[in-house]
Formats: sequence, structure tokens, C-alpha cells
Amino acid sequence: MTQYDVNALRQEYPILEREIYGKKLVYFDNTATSQTPRCVVEAIENMYYTKKANVHRGVHTLSQEATDMQEMTRERVRQFINAMSTQEIIFTRGTTEAINLVASSFGNFLENDDEIIVTVMEHHANIVPWQLLAQRKRIHLRVVPIDANGNLNIDAYCRLFSERTRFVSICHVSNVLGTVNPIKELIAEAHKHQVPVLIDGAQAISHMRVDVQDIDADFYAFSAHKMYGPTGVGVLYGKKHWLEMMPPYQGGGEMIGHVGFDKTTFAELPFKFEAGTPDFVGIAALREAIDYIERIGIEQIAAHEHELLEYATSQMMEIPGMRIFGTAKNKCALISFLIGNEHHYDIGMLLDKLGIAVRTGHHCAQPLMTSLGIEGTVRASFALYNTREEIDTFIAALRRILTILG
Ligand code: PMP
Repeated sequence: MTQYDVNALRQEYPILEREIYGKKLVYFDNTATSQTPRCVVEAIENMYYTKKANVHRGVHTLSQEATDMQEMTRERVRQFINAMSTQEIIFTRGTTEAINLVASSFGNFLENDDEIIVTVMEHHANIVPWQLLAQRKRIHLRVVPIDANGNLNIDAYCRLFSERTRFVSICHVSNVLGTVNPIKELIAEAHKHQVPVLIDGAQAISHMRVDVQDIDADFYAFSAHKMYGPTGVGVLYGKKHWLEMMPPYQGGGEMIGHVGFDKTTFAELPFKFEAGTPDFVGIAALREAIDYIERIGIEQIAAHEHELLEYATSQMMEIPGMRIFGTAKNKCALISFLIGNEHHYDIGMLLDKLGIAVRTGHHCAQPLMTSLGIEGTVRASFALYNTREEIDTFIAALRRILTILG
């Protein structure tokens, strides 16, 4: 596409034509999940209608075609994030499972009193797996704080390293504050201490170019459903030497070499970490989602979203009592806010009545809410198909709601 034509892009999303309470839907809950364009839905349909057979098992043509589709996606993902090898691309159910895989498997290398560094802005998916590990072993979480704008305190991060630090797990982009963390710098610092780093890329992958070799991430996790792809599929990138050392996460079919009651051996990478029948339909459709993003151009998407972010922020700041949480310079297109003493839930519910879908609550980041001294926020988040007109509708709705709430 030479010019960014948002109206043409919107044609690919029938859901955007829906009405909610008689009003045209404004979908601003993209951080939770993005909508899915026709080409991706058609890829799912095509798999079901013409290629459905279990992967990696059959000699028959359909099974081989299904296997090819899955392995073509693996190669597409490898290119998309610039991994060295397809052996480093593991399919999971999503970011959550990817992080659980690492916590559970890499966790075997940790010992009592070892330390893991996370940040206060993590999603529960990047806190609770480490806490579960801490129940198995006496492991301590060290937490990087943020400043008033929602930037990580880098000095504090550097000071958290000790001889007991064994792992760092940090989000690329906060799902509440929008902050884009300087992960290349954070990873370099961890590597000075020979500590590997996992990046939770759930909120970054569809908004910016990710090059795992350039940032030198040891692990990078993301979900397809947040990148215009299908639900139920995610990716764990891991450096080959770590994945080779790590024991399997789950046992079952696909992940074995040979099974005997006396001895079982495991498959080569990446299959060692892919027990059971994968969501091969979703995986095939993920390739279409990546092609779709690349056809539009991730840089163009980022520029469009950034413009929406700036426009929405400036409009919102004119509303009396507006408090925006997360004002980092390097920020993704999402805005968490409260207005005066109004409850986030009331604002979200009234916005819904006006056809506008936003998220309210703690956004699976309760420790962050505690540190901000609040219970929750309203969050509006933008994607490639959102428009300035939708932001105008949203701002007018907020003003109307404030008069209703008095
Ligand atoms: N990390 C972050 C930063 C997220 O925003 C999310 C989803 N809200 C997750 C992890 C979990 O992703 P999933 O539910 O797709 O596994």
C-alpha cells in the first residue's frame, strides 16, 4: 500500500460495521485483543474446508499439506522477528503459556535464594508463573519501580542485580501505561551479569518492528490474537542454546523421540516443546496475519497509531479532571485514564451504551494499580483501523457522560 488508507483497511473488518445499542461500534479495546481481517478468517476457513488433517503424523497428502502450512508459518515467524533458526520458534497457546513454559522449564536451573528481576508494570502473566516457581523453590522476585511518567527506573534496575540474580523477565510495552521499555539497553545490562532475559512482547509485536537478534533477547513471547491473527496461538522465541539445555515443559505426542517404559527420549527442537496436537489451523492463519501486517507495513501502522495517540491525548487533556496514567515519551497507542472521582466502571459502562468498547479495571496488573494507589482505570487502545473521527466520537461521549454523572 503506498498511502495509508484507513477507510479501505476498515472494509476488511465486517465487525466494525456492527451497531451496539443502535450506535456504530467504536472498538477501542485493541490491547485486549485486536479484530481479525477477512484474509485471516479466510485462511482459517481454507484450512478447515480443504486441509484439515493432523500434522506430523501422516504419510497421506492432507497431513503433509497441513504440516507444510504449519512449518511455513514457523519460517514466516522466524523472518518476522529475525530469529536465527526455525528451531528457535515454539508454538504455544499464547504469551501466557510461553512465559509459563520458560518459568517451569528454565526454573529447573534455579536454586533456593536465587533472584528474578521483574518490573512493577508487568501483566499477571509475567508475575504469577514466577510466583508459582517461587512456591516450588525459595526464589525471590526483585521488582523494578517506575517514575511519575511511567518510565522504568533504570538506575534502580541496575542496582537490583546481585550474585543471586538468575533471570530477568520484562514487558516490551506496558498494557496499562503504554510505556515502551528500552529493552535493548535492559538486556545488555543483564548480559553484563550473565543473566538471561525474557521479553513479554504481547503489546509490542503488532506495533513496532521486533528483531530478536538485534535486541539480543534470550526469550521473546507474544500472542497471535493481538496481531490481527487467530485466538489460541502464541509464540515463544528462545535462543537455541537455552532451549537445548531446558527440559521439556509438557509430555505427550509430538515431543518424543522414542517412548519405552524403561527410557524415553525427546524430539529435536522445536518439537521438544510442542506436546500434543497444536492448533495447526490457527498456526496456519498466523502466517496470513503476519503477511497482512507486512503488506500494510508495520512502520506505517505505527505512524498511524501514533498520530491517533497524540490526537486523542491532546483532546482528552482538555476535559476537566482528566488524569492519564502513563505519559512516557516513548509510548504505544493506548491511554489509561480516570476522570475526577468517577468510577472507571461507570465510565466504561456508559461508554458501552454509546457504542464505544473500552476496558475498565486493573487490566491484569494489580501490583501496578497498588503502586499507583488506584483500583483500576479506563483504557482506550488503538489499532491500525481506528480513525480520528472515532476519537471525536469518544471525546464527545466522555463529555456527555460527565454531564450525566454530574
Ligand atoms: N502480557 C501482556 C503485556 C499482555 O497485555 C497480555 C494480554 N493482555 C498478556 C501478557 C497475556 O496474553 P495472552 O492472554 O494472550 O496469553
